[in-house]
Amino acid sequence: MSLYVDIHTHHPTGLHTELQAVGIHPWDADKRSLKEVDFAHAQAIGEIGLDYACDVDVELQKDIFRKQLEIAQELQKPVVLHCVRAFEDAIRIIGHYTLPAVIFHGFIGSKEQAQRAIDKGYYLSFGDRTWRSPKTIEALRNTPLERIFIETDDAATTIDKQYLEVTRIKQVSLKYLQMQILNNYNKLFLPNG
Ligand SMILES: [Zn+2]
Repeated sequence: MSLYVDIHTHHPTGLHTELQAVGIHPWDADKRSLKEVDFAHAQAIGEIGLDYACDVDVELQKDIFRKQLEIAQELQKPVVLHCVRAFEDAIRIIGHYTLPAVIFHGFIGSKEQAQRAIDKGYYLSFGDRTWRSPKTIEALRNTPLERIFIETDDAATTIDKQYLEVTRIKQVSLKYLQMQILNNYNKLFLPNG
């Protein structure tokens, strides 16, 4: 059995633990309706959030984001967050809801931003895009392993390569990293984890 957890992938392999999340992406806020999404049977609600680098109306993004946070709160399911150039609004809006967990997927940001998310009890997921961003590598260095997830997202890569990068930056063995990430996953997604 694979010891890798891929917390966010657009190309499931079936080989690893791969989180199944459903939700309306901010890019689709003007294209999809909540009625077509089967929230009740998903492990998590996501990816949902805010993306100020895309051209979808910001108020519309916020509206559909809030409605899905309400659903996540109602169902008590973790949220996988997509947040691009919208850190302040995203962290303020999420703060109004009581959620079992929040995972910033594809986290890109400074160590100060990372710390603010950690202080709120949130998780940060790192992957292919991280290695091109020196400030995000710095943020990863400062993020405790208890709050880290790893992902392939939509990149042409494999989860083992992403773990390898994290072992280099965090100066830990692969085995130790695998156990820690599995613990994080079990804590959130196994009934009695
Ligand atoms: Zn995303």
